Amino acid sequence: MIDTHCHIDFKDFDEDREDVIKRAKDKLDNVVVSGYSNDSNMDVLQLSKDYEGFIYPTFGFHPVSSQNATDEEISIAHQNIVNHLDEIVAIGEVGMDYFYVTDKTLRERQQEIFTGFLELANEYKKPIVMHVRDCEKKAVNIIPDYDDIPYFVFHCYGGSLKTAKRIMNMDNAYMSFSTMLCYSKQHQDLIEKIDLNYVLTETDSPYLAMTKEERNEPVNVVKAVHKIAEIKDIDVSIVDEITTNNARKIFKI
Ligand SMILES: [Zn+2]
Repeated sequence: MIDTHCHIDFKDFDEDREDVIKRAKDKLDNVVVSGYSNDSNMDVLQLSKDYEGFIYPTFGFHPVSSQNATDEEISIAHQNIVNHLDEIVAIGEVGMDYFYVTDKTLRERQQEIFTGFLELANEYKKPIVMHVRDCEKKAVNIIPDYDDIPYFVFHCYGGSLKTAKRIMNMDNAYMSFSTMLCYSKQHQDLIEKIDLNYVLTETDSPYLAMTKEERNEPVNVVKAVHKIAEIKDIDVSIVDEITTNNARKIFKI
């Protein structure tokens, strides 16, 4: 099993990061840690060096903070991606968040920055991990514009079934499902109808724990895999095999 998206560089893990990674290592094959700022990108790179072969990094810039980012900050993010192309397994998380960002001008700024990252992924043929909330359809429409991006990942997919069906009609787009599956009826209904060949698993740790007070951690991706098996009424090992292979193919790990 692979946690394809988490943030264990957060300070929430400063006290016991080693233990958290050890618990993950006991149960999982790999963990992909997604950078969300220029500082975070450097931190996830360091983690991938400290846990070589187990942790893999992606470099990005979170859409909610990108709305206020300066051009200089974004160009540093681009430069760091180019400088570490061989170490990172994807560009992300990047994207657009229409849930948190409602102002039209700020949404345009988000999209402008997202486009910059898409162009970079296209130029360097890197997969892209997208945070697109309440604008999944818009992101699907963008995909055909970028022929050279090998794979598109909808991190924490929460769009409509109709949009999911469009994603399943593409051969290079995937939807990632998190531990939210354990308690979200919306996500449970979605996964029931989505073909596992288009599915990845993640935790988005420290977010999306079972309760709001709790801190999520990568090993909990096991719970998501079990929940998928339960909902689809198939063996855990089958869910594990298919979703792990999807992740291996996309991130080349
Ligand atoms: Zn995230």
